[in-house]
Amino acid sequence: MIKNLKDTGATEVTGNFGASSDIAVVGGGISGLVSAYLLAKAGARVTVYEASDQLGGLGTFFQYRNVHLERFYHCMLPSDRHLLGILRELGLEDQIYWKETSFGFMQNGQLYGLNTPLELLRFSPLSLIDRIRIGLTGVWGSICSSNGLDNVTCVRWLSRLSGRRAFEIFWKPMLQAKFGDRYQNVPALWFWKRFNREKGGGKKECKGYIHGGYRRIINTLSESIKAHGGIIKLQAPVEKLDLTEDERLIVHTTPDKAQVFDRVIVTAPILSLRAAMADGRLASVAERIDAGIDMQGVVNAVLMLRRGLTQHYWVAAIDEEIPFQGVVESTTLLEKTDTAGVHLVYLMNYVHRTDPLFSQSDTEILQAYMAGLKRLFPDLQEDDVIDRFVFRSPFVEPLYTTGYQQRKPPAVLIPGKLYLATTTQVYPEVTSWNGAAGLAQKVVNELLSEHRKTLTNPANEMKHKAYETQ
Ligand SMILES: Cc1cc2nc3c(=O)[nH]c(=O)nc-3n(C[C@H](O)[C@H](O)[C@H](O)COP(=O)(O)OP(=O)(O)OC[C@H]3O[C@@H](n4cnc5c(N)ncnc54)[C@H](O)[C@@H]3O)c2cc1C
Repeated sequence: MIKNLKDTGATEVTGNFGASSDIAVVGGGISGLVSAYLLAKAGARVTVYEASDQLGGLGTFFQYRNVHLERFYHCMLPSDRHLLGILRELGLEDQIYWKETSFGFMQNGQLYGLNTPLELLRFSPLSLIDRIRIGLTGVWGSICSSNGLDNVTCVRWLSRLSGRRAFEIFWKPMLQAKFGDRYQNVPALWFWKRFNREKGGGKKECKGYIHGGYRRIINTLSESIKAHGGIIKLQAPVEKLDLTEDERLIVHTTPDKAQVFDRVIVTAPILSLRAAMADGRLASVAERIDAGIDMQGVVNAVLMLRRGLTQHYWVAAIDEEIPFQGVVESTTLLEKTDTAGVHLVYLMNYVHRTDPLFSQSDTEILQAYMAGLKRLFPDLQEDDVIDRFVFRSPFVEPLYTTGYQQRKPPAVLIPGKLYLATTTQVYPEVTSWNGAAGLAQKVVNELLSEHRKTLTNPANEMKHKAYETQ
């Protein structure tokens, strides 16, 4: 059994598998790594299957000069208690550093800071009444209950509270910055959670990073899994998941390469999972995953600059002429030793995998993004840019719709056997390393408690079998 120690977020493992349980973890992102780490620590024989040649999933990294940078900007918040608890356990807590950060808003070529009530009052694109209504919306958002917010869209909720014009000019760009053009159906509950997470309940915005980058977390987790006897397989995409005749789980990486397990936790995007289970004895189990769930992707660029652009960590910039939705200037948080001395700027663009942008070349994308950036910062010179890279991912953020709370995939697909700990289940928590770590803890906890039940009452094993063949 794994418990969150009160207030600390640290984990305590009180269950144990003995050496009798083979468990596969599909996906080597943070969710898979935390699941495998907790299971290995509890005595299970764990095998992690990662499709790519690197661990870390969306938080993975690339080498730049003498440092390793994230492909997609990443930072922590003081409220990330699940992640911080794991880092404490791994002995990494003293490697985290924190800084006050800020948020900016680019409107018609003008940059506004939007971090204090006074800055909000100075936000001239809106009338004074609209600014006051936005301020009151923020206050209401931080004190109101979340009841019923899953059933109303952000568009409706925010427009009602702040007014239509304030929604269009102020809130819509924030939603677009996360969902691109697919923001319309996102429930207000998502916004409420995110707002309260980022602003930490009205305290000053503060973000954290770790010396050595997220690679350090990934490597420490993977070393710890191996030290506990776990196996990590890279370039091992799970293509098929099925049941054997004697009702054990079989994981295929290629048609002629398969291994049998007692239990499986899937952390890879569920869209690939559905396909892996589609034609076999698990087909009816796969149907329990809502086929309507889709995910937003991302096509981001990272630029290494000779100079900084603003003092803000994040600047929202929604403009038809700009082919991305915001600028994250990581160097406002990261120490120079973590960026090889360059100014690090990420241009974020949330876009669906069916968008033509996904098939454009890096050169085409960079040309368009650079033109957009120069439009925002006209004094930026070509010479200011030292290096530039593009990174894409098709499965990033679930495209939530109202009532998602009821439709999100279950953690337990077959009790005692098949579990899910994927990004699509983190809701209403914000998808993040913290959300993934918290979900992984919860799912491992479920698996352990089911395992204990089987040990005390072997008849439960029969119950599982009956369930599977329904
Ligand atoms: C632009 C951007 C910025 C972000 N910023 C932050 C931030 O500042 N802070 C924060 O905490 N979070 C941030 N996030 C979110 C965070 O990265 C994710 O929530 C988190 O990484 C999800 O982890 P995961 O393990 O659930 O999934 P993933 O990271 O998606 O990992 C899934 C893994 O499964 C593997 N896989 C896929 N198919 C298969 C298969 N068939 N077989 C085996 N393996 C498979 C994939 O290769 C991948 O490694 C950001 C994300 C993006 C895209």
